[in-house]
Amino acid sequence: MSNPSELLKYARIKDFEASYSQDIRDDVYFGLPVKPILEAESRLLSSQEKVLAYFSMEYGLATSVYNIFKSVQPVKPANQVSENEIFSNERIPDYLFSLKLETVLDLPIYSGGLGVLAGDTIKTAADMKMPLVAVGILWNKGYFKQRFWFKYGQLPEEMKWDPSSFPGLIPLENKVKLDLKDRNIYLRLWKYYVYSQYHDSVVPLILLDSNVKENDEATRRLTDRLYKSDDLDGRLLQRVILGMGGVLALDELKYPVSIHHLNEGHAAFAFVQKARKVKPKERESLKDHFAYTCHTPVPAGHDRFNFSDLERVLKPSDLEIVKNFGTEDEEAGIVNLTLLAMNTSRSVNAVSQKHGEVMRFQFSSYREKIKAVTNGIHFPTWVSEPILKFLEAYGSTLGDFRNDPTLLKNVLLLKDDQGFRRNLWSAHQESKKKLCQHLSRWELKENVLTVAWARRIAAYKRPSLIFQDIDRLMDMARRIGPLQILYAGKAHPNDSLAFTYINDIMNAIDRTTEQSGLVKILMLENYDIYIAKMLVSGVDIWLNNPLPPYEASGTSGMKAIANAVLQLSTLDGWVVEAADKPIGQFFGYEDDAKTFADGLVLRLDEDSKALYGALEEMMRLYYQTNKNGEPDVQSAWLDKMVYCLSEAGYFNTFRMVQEYKKSVWDY
Ligand SMILES: *Cc1c(COP(=O)(O)O)cnc(C)c1O
Repeated sequence: MSNPSELLKYARIKDFEASYSQDIRDDVYFGLPVKPILEAESRLLSSQEKVLAYFSMEYGLATSVYNIFKSVQPVKPANQVSENEIFSNERIPDYLFSLKLETVLDLPIYSGGLGVLAGDTIKTAADMKMPLVAVGILWNKGYFKQRFWFKYGQLPEEMKWDPSSFPGLIPLENKVKLDLKDRNIYLRLWKYYVYSQYHDSVVPLILLDSNVKENDEATRRLTDRLYKSDDLDGRLLQRVILGMGGVLALDELKYPVSIHHLNEGHAAFAFVQKARKVKPKERESLKDHFAYTCHTPVPAGHDRFNFSDLERVLKPSDLEIVKNFGTEDEEAGIVNLTLLAMNTSRSVNAVSQKHGEVMRFQFSSYREKIKAVTNGIHFPTWVSEPILKFLEAYGSTLGDFRNDPTLLKNVLLLKDDQGFRRNLWSAHQESKKKLCQHLSRWELKENVLTVAWARRIAAYKRPSLIFQDIDRLMDMARRIGPLQILYAGKAHPNDSLAFTYINDIMNAIDRTTEQSGLVKILMLENYDIYIAKMLVSGVDIWLNNPLPPYEASGTSGMKAIANAVLQLSTLDGWVVEAADKPIGQFFGYEDDAKTFADGLVLRLDEDSKALYGALEEMMRLYYQTNKNGEPDVQSAWLDKMVYCLSEAGYFNTFRMVQEYKKSVWDY
């Protein structure tokens, strides 16, 4: 038997012989090369470069669609993408069939956009061979599994998966002890190596896990479920584990970290752990080692805790530090983790230019300090195979866009090339055909205009906007041409308002069963990265209708433009920065970033009217362009597709990480 002794120096794997020796050999790590691991680890440990530690509560690594690890054993059913129901206005196929997707699960430690961004960022760091180590939590029960309950909405189900046999994930011998007021929390460490697109580099992701025998029952369950919010101490302890436990884990593994990058206030306790070891006077200079990114203007995204709740958990000396840097309201005795993070970080940033303005308004005394770095997506993860192949054929004009996606702006050089336009149309139709095949039981048609709305179900995202006036929608389809509308999204189990939106959508679907030949509507269960990739690459129009200014950035539309899919969007988040380019249609209420109200006024009536107007224009153009499978490649629709691709040259994580290097991490 081979002996991967070098790798085991860097990762002391628990139960190596019994459980991992077939998948990890001298030169192979779950089907990928070992060498980049050895190189990355030795670089990280040598401390010749500034090591960056990236903290996030969640990571969406897209393991179902990108860099899939191979295991000698077949993947266990628990670690496979599940079969999903569909609720549609076709009815009979819903009853007879489900959507079967046979691939390994996305490592289920994410819930949505924040996690996908964190995953895309560290994949990009691997592509750029950066000295980065990522820190997160091993969620033993993931987020949750969404089940539909006929037409009565969402039924959250506990998610089960098996970390000990998940390809690429390894348990370490290392444990750390987090000493709090009246208890110790023991955390086991796991490692997951995130590979670059060419498998020539990795970044390690360290995952913390409280499910060990040294802890009592309640403590073991702290790392069960992401964003479990029904118990206050649990919520607080999850944050303490990520921040303080994360720093302990980096010390235990001997990574000489110089910059801690905190995503959301979730990770703000990292500073507290560092501050424990220095005298109060020296704490100011600790800030040079911290950077903080805020990802949402929505109040629920900013954690607040009472002094008395913190007191139950934290040692008095730790509480002092937290109060000192994080107090929002002395009299009411409230700490805000956003303030804690802002006050202890040298760099503070928002995630789009618009969000920068909003954040400067929300936190006006910090306005000088607040920068903005617009989000991106990892192009190799999100581009479909047909579009990638198509682009590669034009490599001599575009340049090496796989290494540097900013070169995608060069597609504009080919805008008037008839062959290029025809091939772009064909590549898109191929991706669309794959989507239709997945949903073949519902008889989706390749030459029918297809629109998707897929994202987290939250009030400000206005999930049911397009269903405000079903009659008008049907009338448009009758006059101009048929529509296919695909829906997907989970509502947080404690968000009772969001539940009602799922019911609204299902009711709308239910009311149109007679008219599915005109407008076919499908709601897919259990939105995840696999479904997201299928949708962003396979539809014709990506619908995005948040109420400004609540969408800090949004990234799913960026995934769509990377696949030449047009935008139908309100002006919020990243879209504001692309709105002067012909990448689709924009509509609806525009805010001035100075009227941030506490209560949501959703403007459903006027904005749905604006939406129908914009959609009608797009429908006309589409059916002028696609005449039953015969494309008119001169059409302005093709111009828009080309502009989408060229904008993908900007809205990607390659450009984003370069900006972070320059203005946040100061390399
Ligand atoms: C990209 C993505 C999101 C985020 O989409 P937004 O447009 O930012 O809301 C959420 N969930 C999944 C599964 C994604 O892939």
